[in-house]
Amino acid sequence: MTSPTGDQGDVVTPGVVPVPDPRHHVADPRGRLRAAGLRVTAPRQAVLGVLGEHPHSTAEAVAAAVRGRLGSVSTQAVYDVLAACVDAGLVRRIEPAGSAARYETRTGDNHHHVVCRSCGATADVDCVVGEAPCLHPSADGGFDIDEAEVVFWGTCPACRAVRTGSPPDRRDSIVPATVMHESVHEER
Ligand SMILES: [Zn+2]
Ligand SMILES: [Zn+2]
Repeated sequence: MTSPTGDQGDVVTPGVVPVPDPRHHVADPRGRLRAAGLRVTAPRQAVLGVLGEHPHSTAEAVAAAVRGRLGSVSTQAVYDVLAACVDAGLVRRIEPAGSAARYETRTGDNHHHVVCRSCGATADVDCVVGEAPCLHPSADGGFDIDEAEVVFWGTCPACRAVRTGSPPDRRDSIVPATVMHESVHEER
């Protein structure tokens, strides 16, 4: 059974209540796959659907959710689908330090991420200026910089609520409590 909201209870990121986000939702997986030159298969469609509802999921979590939809699909098959979709530009792979790689369907807009130090919850932060690279290093060492990938580290509303004993304030959901670390990847 599929509920009208598409939420089947297969929450794949602990501590995060999935909020439908049109920037991640894939309305037409078949069309997206075809446009990218990929053969349309059930696992590929399912992976795009799962990521649309659960952005920033790990491959393990995607595999579990895909199995919930399709039955037996191997984790290796899901890794293969993710790799093909990343290569085709349909899926973006991010690797916050200390975390397994996470995947999302929101690609090509140079957005950044805020990651909870306690539970790993990951949320989007829009590009600071709207186009890559949105940050310029004070010295570029002769590199031609085309991208700045920033990870804001902090504590998510749910973990803050646990600490303070007060209910989470949803308005804080994409605002980092503390900005502890920035990393800028330079293109070689
Ligand atoms: Zn947290
Ligand atoms: Zn994202």
